[in-house]
Amino acid sequence: MQVLIAEDDIHMQNMLLLMVQSFGHEVFTADNGREAWELYQTHQFPMIISDWLMPELSGVELCKRIRISQKLNYTYIILVSSMSGRKNYLEGMDAGADDFVGKPVDKDELHARIRVGERIISLQIQLEEMSQTDGLTNLANRRRFDEALNEEWRRAKRTGIPVSLIMIDIDHFKKYNDNYGHLEGDYCLKQVSTVLAHTGNRPGDLVARFGGEEFVVLLSGASLEPAKRMAENLRAAVSNLKLRHEYSENADHITISLGLASIVPAFDQNNPHVLISLADTALYQAKKSGRNRVVVFKE
Ligand SMILES: [Mg+2]
Repeated sequence: MQVLIAEDDIHMQNMLLLMVQSFGHEVFTADNGREAWELYQTHQFPMIISDWLMPELSGVELCKRIRISQKLNYTYIILVSSMSGRKNYLEGMDAGADDFVGKPVDKDELHARIRVGERIISLQIQLEEMSQTDGLTNLANRRRFDEALNEEWRRAKRTGIPVSLIMIDIDHFKKYNDNYGHLEGDYCLKQVSTVLAHTGNRPGDLVARFGGEEFVVLLSGASLEPAKRMAENLRAAVSNLKLRHEYSENADHITISLGLASIVPAFDQNNPHVLISLADTALYQAKKSGRNRVVVFKE
């Protein structure tokens, strides 16, 4: 783990550095709170061990700033101080510190407290992953997709490179559920998801469950032709699963319909949902014209 040590006393800093390195961590150092705050702007450390009394910016002020800045990942903060006593402890914890270690620092105690911090950090990472994953299919969920779409949209506006979206719907899935039951329905969703996730996706592309039996593939920086090939590959791969579906009206097995849209957003086009609605229109046309096919949106 990467640990930032903020300590103005060079002897103490060196001692902490050697201790934390001996626990197997990669250590960075700052000579005061301001320097630590600046380092934190460029690199988000999972753990900071900070002295309380430092010139320019104290450990407590550093804690407050980090808590207000609300970066994506949590930073676990251990305050180190010779200022013992209940009042100081409470002030440090109120400022946003997670733990408090008295000086002189006991090596075993510091080691134990760092391990506690590591457990909290790994739980936090797990939570973050869970909050972005669809529980049934293990694909990215709607929330993750919305974030990625916003990011792609901004990138496309900046670079002028198109952003492409494939909307996918399983054909006659309601009939599948009604006739085979919801457990079989879930099994079918999982099978289709696995195929979508593993069929020729380039790094940077995102496959997500949009909701129900609808999926999306967000293609990073892909223009229309490669996006079309990808959509056709996905269609063929799902059809080749040959999942029995006697109640489908267009085949005897599970198939999907796909709508594809690809655009370069205009500089004043701030809402990426226009891309979803174009892909959705194309998907609707794929359904209308017989299903198990790819339709590209055309104006
Ligand atoms: Mg100090």
